[in-house]
Amino acid sequence: MPNPYEFSREQFSEALADQPAFRVRQLMTGLYEHDLFPEEISTLPAPLRTRLANDFPLSLTIANEVKTDDGETLKWAFRLPDGATIETVLMRYRDRVTVCISTQAGCAMACSFCATGQAGFTRHLTVGEVLEQVVRAARAAAPRRLSNVVFMGMGEPLANYDVTVEVIRRLHTERGMSARNITVSTVGVAPAIERLAHEGLPVTLAVSLHLANDHERDELVPINRRYNLERLAAACEVWNEKTKRRLSFEWSLISGVNDTERHATELAEYAGPLRAHVNLIPLNPTPGYLVVGSPRERIEQFRSALDDRGINVTVRRTRGRSIDAACGQLAHVTNGKRRTIPRR
Ligand code: SAH
Repeated sequence: MPNPYEFSREQFSEALADQPAFRVRQLMTGLYEHDLFPEEISTLPAPLRTRLANDFPLSLTIANEVKTDDGETLKWAFRLPDGATIETVLMRYRDRVTVCISTQAGCAMACSFCATGQAGFTRHLTVGEVLEQVVRAARAAAPRRLSNVVFMGMGEPLANYDVTVEVIRRLHTERGMSARNITVSTVGVAPAIERLAHEGLPVTLAVSLHLANDHERDELVPINRRYNLERLAAACEVWNEKTKRRLSFEWSLISGVNDTERHATELAEYAGPLRAHVNLIPLNPTPGYLVVGSPRERIEQFRSALDDRGINVTVRRTRGRSIDAACGQLAHVTNGKRRTIPRR
């Protein structure tokens, strides 16, 4: 059964053809502007609320909830009706409130350092399942307004392309969010980057680069064997040209794996011509990848090596790390398989 966020305005108009047209407007306003669930939309008559609640049941139930960073970060493992588990994170900053959402239960990309990649792919999420994460986070953020959405949770958004694009459109047209406050993070599915560039959605694109030579990237980020760095750069060029939006590269610093001077040089040579901004992210250790993140001094050296070469670079602070709740580690139960996460 579809959840309340599955249907577009047009689909609701058809499903509620027996109702006056303004009911659909009231419903959409309640769902998207006031973050209400159907039974809470008091402008609708009670029988209609009951009908909507029955016909469009919510999809997500809380399997686990963790608060960290002095309550500024809230992380959920949500269970879907079929038992699959996904993660959603709400991060409150001084100047913005961001939700990190999942587009798939699990992921097929198999990046070795990523907890989700280690667990494998379960299934694509639907539009409604992705949007319900946003609404639940927005409700938890109140009275502050949710300002940013990042597609950096479980899954590869560009592998669930149609859903990702429809979610962006819905956030824009129904929630009134600026596409500029939406970031799509991809492992580097080159043809899908090019396709997205032509959608006319001024989102921020973040490419998870992590290595800038094919030999090593083939191992860490297996999609590189299909779309190598040259192919990826061509897609990034299309992105730059079509969207005029700043591209960013994500680089999770892994001790000895991608944090040496040589790696910094390779990255600078790759990112420079594409005028990409580089985000350095300290690695969150995961149980299936026994390499640690770079020490603080190395991160700083790496940052300044890029800076010296004229690359626009920032170091991103990770959240949720102290409680093993970063990056795919909260949904211990994926696919019905129970995984034990050792505490450091
Ligand atoms: N599949 C998409 C989006 C999800 S991952 C992508 O690859 O971009 C979001 C970001 O978190 C990516 O940059 C990913 O490489 C990074 N990431 C995954 N596991 C991590 C870990 N253990 N430590 C640090 N960053 C990690």
